[in-house]
Amino acid sequence: MIDTHCHLYYEQFADDLDDVMARARAGGVDRAITIAVDRPTGEQCLDLVNRFPGQVYCALGVHPSETDHVTEADLDWIEAAVGDPAVVAIGEIGLDVYRGETNIARQEKLFEHFLELARRLDLPVVIHHRTAGLRTIEIIKSAGNHRGVFHCFSEDFEYARRVLDQGFNISFTGNLTYKNSPLPDLVRRLPLDRIMLETDAPFMAPMPHRGKRCEPVYVREIAAKIAEIQGITTEEAAKITTSVAEKLFFSHD
Ligand SMILES: [Zn+2]
Ligand SMILES: [Zn+2]
Repeated sequence: MIDTHCHLYYEQFADDLDDVMARARAGGVDRAITIAVDRPTGEQCLDLVNRFPGQVYCALGVHPSETDHVTEADLDWIEAAVGDPAVVAIGEIGLDVYRGETNIARQEKLFEHFLELARRLDLPVVIHHRTAGLRTIEIIKSAGNHRGVFHCFSEDFEYARRVLDQGFNISFTGNLTYKNSPLPDLVRRLPLDRIMLETDAPFMAPMPHRGKRCEPVYVREIAAKIAEIQGITTEEAAKITTSVAEKLFFSHD
């Protein structure tokens, strides 16, 4: 399995990341993609791919909530750094109006900048889209990107349809496993060959770990939940979602 979205550079992993990655491997999670939110975390991501070669890959970009402090020099650094073969995507990028819309123009400008970079380099994009409504998908549509993923998906079926129509995949975190979540009803209606697993670690730990630190090996619980919803075995769910992630991030045809 592949944990397609985690943040391994946060301090929650400072003391025991070797153990965390050993547990992941032992649990069948042989690869993890650690996602930057700005330049400093991007530099940490590149350190991590060197520390765990062949197991940790990364995405570089600027999270919409970090757009205020990013400089032109940061953008230049990211543009140069994405040439590293361990960089498998641009992300996370997108829109986030959770804390108000004060810098939405800046968010949109940077979002469009990174969508253009991804098209130019033929890289997939990892989209963060909290409470931003249809604006996120409209920007992608007019930009003309067709490869990527909407991560931590928590919208409705109608939104999912638009995402799939644009050629993008959808990934689910531990919130799929939470009691009273509407997401299982959505997953039941989605094609499994467009779904990927992610933890968003150290956040969003799935049941029965909810409230604790999340780590990559927990994608197993998300695979198990998808299997339960779709009426297949966990192995089948793991296999199909892994090949979806491989095709998006690790195939170079
Ligand atoms: Zn996000
Ligand atoms: Zn994230």
